[in-house]
Amino acid sequence: MLEHEIKKTGYTAQQLMIPETIEQILRKNNFQTTDDLYSAIGFGGIPAAKVVQKMREEYKRRTKKIEAPAVGSRHSAKNQGGGSGVIVEGLEGCLVRLSKCCRPIPGDDIVGYITRGRGVSVHRRDCVNVKNIDSEQSENRIVNVSWENASPAERYCADLLIVADDRTGLLADIINIISTMKIPSNAFNARVNKNMEALVNVGVEVSTAEQIDELIAKLKNVSGVISITRSLQ
Ligand SMILES: [Zn+2]
Repeated sequence: MLEHEIKKTGYTAQQLMIPETIEQILRKNNFQTTDDLYSAIGFGGIPAAKVVQKMREEYKRRTKKIEAPAVGSRHSAKNQGGGSGVIVEGLEGCLVRLSKCCRPIPGDDIVGYITRGRGVSVHRRDCVNVKNIDSEQSENRIVNVSWENASPAERYCADLLIVADDRTGLLADIINIISTMKIPSNAFNARVNKNMEALVNVGVEVSTAEQIDELIAKLKNVSGVISITRSLQ
C-alpha cells in the first residue's frame, strides 16, 4: 500500500524508505516497529499519503544535505591529508583514491595499486580486482598503504548483500537494526531469487570498519539470515 502510494509520487521506494526516515515516523507516531506502521496504514489509522508526504520532505532535506561539503570532501579527496585518510609509504603527496569496487573503510586491510596516470588506487586486500592483478606485471606497482588516524566525522559508503529466507517481517527487522544503530543508509533494495531466498542490498555510511563489522554481526542474528557480504559494485 505504501509502495503504491510512493509510486504515485514518481519517487522510488529506495529513495524514500530509508531507515532514518522510517524511524522518525515510527517515533513520531509512537509505533514500536515498522509492522505497527504498516498495520496502522492497513486499518486506515494513518493515511499512506501522509506517510509518503513526510518521506518526501525528508528525502528533499536529505538530498540538500548531501550536496554540502561534508560528503563532497569524500569524493574530492585527492592526496595525503587531503581527506582520503590514507598514507602511501614512500610516496609523499601523491594522488590517492579509494577504489569504488570494494570501497575500503578505515580499519580494513588495504593495499595501494599505482595506476597509469591516476595516482594510487586503494583497495581492500581481499578485493577480487587486487587478486586478479597479474602478479608478474604488477609486482612493482603494488605499494604499502596505511590508514591515517581516521576522523570520526568522515563517512564512507559500504554496500551489504544479505541473503535470507524470504519471510514476513524480514525487511522490517533489518531496517530496525540499522536505525537502532543510527547508521545512515543511502540505499535499500530487496528481491527474491529462484530458490525463494531474499537478496537484500543495503547501502550504509560508516566511519570505521568496526562499525560495519558490528552491523554485520547484529544482522547475522536476524532470524532467517543465511549470509552477509560486503558486496562489490
Ligand atoms: Zn577494489
